[in-house]
Amino acid sequence: MQLTDTHCHLDYNKFDADREEVIQRANDAGLIRLLVPGLQHKSSKEAVTLAEKYPSVYAAVGFHPTDLEEFHQKNFDEVKALANHPKVVAIGEIGIDYYWVKEKEKQEFQREVLKQQLAFAKEVNKPVVIHMREENDAWFGEASVDLLNILEEWQKSLSGSLAEKPGVLHSFNGTLETAQKGLDLNFYIGITGPVTYKNADKKREIIAQLPLEKLLIETDSPFLSPVPVREKRNEPSYILHIADRIAEIHSKSPAEIAAITTQNAARLFAWGD
Ligand SMILES: [Zn+2]
Repeated sequence: MQLTDTHCHLDYNKFDADREEVIQRANDAGLIRLLVPGLQHKSSKEAVTLAEKYPSVYAAVGFHPTDLEEFHQKNFDEVKALANHPKVVAIGEIGIDYYWVKEKEKQEFQREVLKQQLAFAKEVNKPVVIHMREENDAWFGEASVDLLNILEEWQKSLSGSLAEKPGVLHSFNGTLETAQKGLDLNFYIGITGPVTYKNADKKREIIAQLPLEKLLIETDSPFLSPVPVREKRNEPSYILHIADRIAEIHSKSPAEIAAITTQNAARLFAWGD
């Protein structure tokens, strides 16, 4: 079985004690590629360092919407320089977060920074990894509306392969309508551990209606541990539990889901066979 984890924060200090073993366990579990997204300039640099050290690790670079305290030209330039690295396959994670950030002025700044990073992604012709979280973790609200407006305007300005494969809506937690709008803009949809939760029937109903060739599976390690390891620190090898659940939802075998999502990721991030 060949699996891909398109979203794991392996630079987090929660992996300091056993990062080597975590990556080894991932490789042993059949994970052929792992994508580590950046949260600001420092973690973007760490993601690139990990990608240089481990053959299966790739990096994305960017500023997360809740990590904008140090977003200014010098640090943005540092991230821009990293984007030329051959193992940097995307700009991310970038986006909108009205769960943690409620001040209107700061939300406005998030949107401004998102637009700047989207413009940069277009410039370097790399897809984007999009984070989106609503106030109170609602399924739909201002964050979805604002994000879709910004992504639509950006996607319409693209051409060629980036227009066809502009990015992924990571750890998707929206309505079917929002997913559909994302798909209409050619975005992929990232599925994380909550799909395995007992009370997630509504989420599973939505995922059942999404085309398999547009799904990616992600652990978001060290967060969002799936059932049955929900009490543990999450790590990429647990992606099997997410593949199992999607297999059940889409009446496929886990091996088929692994192969399809691995192909999807290879198509989006253009990282080889
Ligand atoms: Zn993340």
